[in-house]
Amino acid sequence: MGGSGGGEKKVEVVESKEWYLAAYAPEGVPTSDHLKLRTVTLSLAVDSIPDGHVAVQLLWTSTEPYLRTIMTGVEEGGLYFPQIPLNKVITTFGVGRVIVSKDGKFSEGEIVVNPFFPVAEYSVVASHFLRKTDPTAGIPLPEYLSSLGLPGFSAWVGIEVLGKPKPGSNVFISACAGAVGMIAGQLAKLKGCRVIGSTGSDNKVKLSKEKFGYDDAFNYNKETDFDAALSKYCPNGIDIYLDNVGGKMLEAVLNHVNKGAHIPVCGMISQYNKTWTEREGVRNLLNIVGKEVKIEGFLVGTYMNRMGEFMKEMEGYIKEKKISSEHKIYNGIESFLEGFASIFSTSNVGKVIIQVAA
Ligand code: NAP
Repeated sequence: MGGSGGGEKKVEVVESKEWYLAAYAPEGVPTSDHLKLRTVTLSLAVDSIPDGHVAVQLLWTSTEPYLRTIMTGVEEGGLYFPQIPLNKVITTFGVGRVIVSKDGKFSEGEIVVNPFFPVAEYSVVASHFLRKTDPTAGIPLPEYLSSLGLPGFSAWVGIEVLGKPKPGSNVFISACAGAVGMIAGQLAKLKGCRVIGSTGSDNKVKLSKEKFGYDDAFNYNKETDFDAALSKYCPNGIDIYLDNVGGKMLEAVLNHVNKGAHIPVCGMISQYNKTWTEREGVRNLLNIVGKEVKIEGFLVGTYMNRMGEFMKEMEGYIKEKKISSEHKIYNGIESFLEGFASIFSTSNVGKVIIQVAA
């Protein structure tokens, strides 16, 4: 394909593959019955693109757990996002190249990040959510979906803004080798905390300790008693628990919290594939009274006014090599479903990203 612009009278049409929601999945991990790939024809002719829009070639796209919660077809609590209409293309965080611009602020060839890029090889999108990347910064593009993207920002809000760590704080993080967990652990270490994690495989335990700097971590699939595991790994109790999984781990943590502990609840991925009546309860919520624990759910969208502060801090850490990340890269837009489904298992490592084009 090729773009058109700069006043050239060149009509361009591309065939573009895109993922759309064909049927809702009230429970279980979504499959090819729910998410389907189709090919559409898209005009890139300048005249067909509305003002304030750009045509973009998608380079990298992101698998985000919250997408699961907007594919159930049930408007019930959870993350409070509206359900995706059937037959509509899925949108998520992505990095793309501008190929035609009808907005003076963006030029052809620029690489942009968008929280709502269609999972489509080519698309025409409104430009107001686009953010330019800095080609001189030397930051690999996948980082914009990882340490500098939604997971990194979530880790920063959870640990730095809500967790309020002090040197020596005892921090526990679930899904510690995942996209949020790997960054959260490193941020807590940079604040001088003792940091413990839980994850689903020995390989991820090793990675958490050796690459992400966790003081210790355990494989929850090998621990039959989470309460006993926390006694062993968190002998001084827990001051901050960044909850990514909910369920039985949250219940166990509440038996180990110190006075005044903070529990920023980033997500509860262990519960996403269940209807709400099947979700696990937490029997010892009473512990939050005597220990004066603050449990606080959050959505990063609420903290967008602090995005600039976060970006500056995180870019500094990346340049100084104080924070590193691990990416599980799938190749080709065809692999989106496989990559997305993998985040509901232990099979992935770090941030799962799809490379759509070079
Ligand atoms: P991720 O950790 O990269 O991938 C999900 C991981 O969760 C899997 O690798 C797996 O790791 C673990 N997992 C999956 N199913 C599980 C289960 N049934 N029980 C226990 N662990 C399970 O995902 P992420 O992007 O970093 O997201 C982590 C959490 O943050 C999610 O709950 C997500 O919804 C939330 N989040 C919230 C916000 C917000 O604004 N609040 C923004 C971004 C993400 P193991 O091998 O360790 O089990």
